[in-house]
Amino acid sequence: MEKTFAIIKPDAFAAGHAGKILARIYAEGFTVVGLKKLYMSKVEAEGFYYVHKARPFFGELTDFMSSGPCVVMVLEAKGAIKKWRDLMGATNPAEAAAGTMRKEFGTSIGNNATHGSDAPETAAFEIPYFFSGLELL
Ligand code: ADP
Ligand code: MG
Repeated sequence: MEKTFAIIKPDAFAAGHAGKILARIYAEGFTVVGLKKLYMSKVEAEGFYYVHKARPFFGELTDFMSSGPCVVMVLEAKGAIKKWRDLMGATNPAEAAAGTMRKEFGTSIGNNATHGSDAPETAAFEIPYFFSGLELL
């Protein structure tokens, strides 16, 4: 079993899509091993997306992620990292396949409804960024 880190981003949370996204997560067979609502600060968002600090959209991205509450989760499944990336769809909702979370709930390349770790090393950084071991028992 593999673990991945996921976020229902502030756009999707504010639009009331958190329940629908969670329903899909359960329907696809993930185990939700950690889940909490939080309101990220700008500094927390900058730390989380540190790998993107040189990208032109870094300011926009970290403003967005600290613009309202979101839901952070740890999902477990066989091949969870790829499985959740596949369910999310392409970064740009306009290019995401039908039925994916970003196609259904994203509205722009920035406001794209969900986040998912892209590799085991990324998950290993992202999971403990928001969760302590005690929260994942
Ligand atoms: P992904 O979330 O699919 O792994 P990236 O790691 O490339 O995508 O980018 C991280 C996040 O930054 C994206 O999910 C999106 O919210 C935002 N982003 C990516 N590219 C752009 C862009 N060109 N303009 C604005 N925001 C962007
Ligand atoms: Mg990424």
